[in-house]
Amino acid sequence: MSSRILLVEDEPGLVLTLTDLLTAEGYAVESATDGPAGLARALGERFDLIVLDIMLPGRNGFEVCRDLRRQGRDVAILMLTAKSQLTDRVVGLKLGADDYMAKPFEPPELVARIEALLRRVKRERLTPVIRFEFGSVEIDFEKGTALKAGAPIGLAGKELDLLRYLIDHRGSVVPREELLQAVWEYQPGVSSRTIDVHVAWLRQKLEDNPQYPQYIHTVRGVGYRFSA
Ligand code: CA
Repeated sequence: MSSRILLVEDEPGLVLTLTDLLTAEGYAVESATDGPAGLARALGERFDLIVLDIMLPGRNGFEVCRDLRRQGRDVAILMLTAKSQLTDRVVGLKLGADDYMAKPFEPPELVARIEALLRRVKRERLTPVIRFEFGSVEIDFEKGTALKAGAPIGLAGKELDLLRYLIDHRGSVVPREELLQAVWEYQPGVSSRTIDVHVAWLRQKLEDNPQYPQYIHTVRGVGYRFSA
């Protein structure tokens, strides 16, 4: 399946050129010409990568990027910044962009950058964690064993699956809906309450203070984020 790219850019000439180039490379390309439309499409559809201009009508690229990350979307984002504005790049990366390209650029340069970013993202997603350590906890997902401060802790199958999924996506907010699909494969009778209960068990077993979790964070109204 070809990668889907969303261009959020308000310069019609650039949209046209990039659409032609990327389509010729085999990508499925969609575009939006202002911030609110770009955000709505990015929230409502699945894209592999978003090319996000900063100066946009309605809502600028920083706001769109921040809102996407806040709502748990981990789609790859490549920001288009002004060459002179070093702060733009820093702010963009801080808000969760994966890469940036300074304007003006030669369109083929951007295509090459997009390819590199898509490769990087795919590689990261295809490399599941086998062993992982955080705080005093050591997990071996291959063997299905866990130690806390050297002492074995029992983790049930779904607890391990859930933890592994959160760790594989560490740093990103994973929506409950995604966990239901990925970890429970929409088994009947399983609801988002099931996820919350499993998270509570994991915290009880892994966190030093389960009331104030350091590793498995709740993102209100969305889901959970692992960070270590
Ligand atoms: Ca612009």
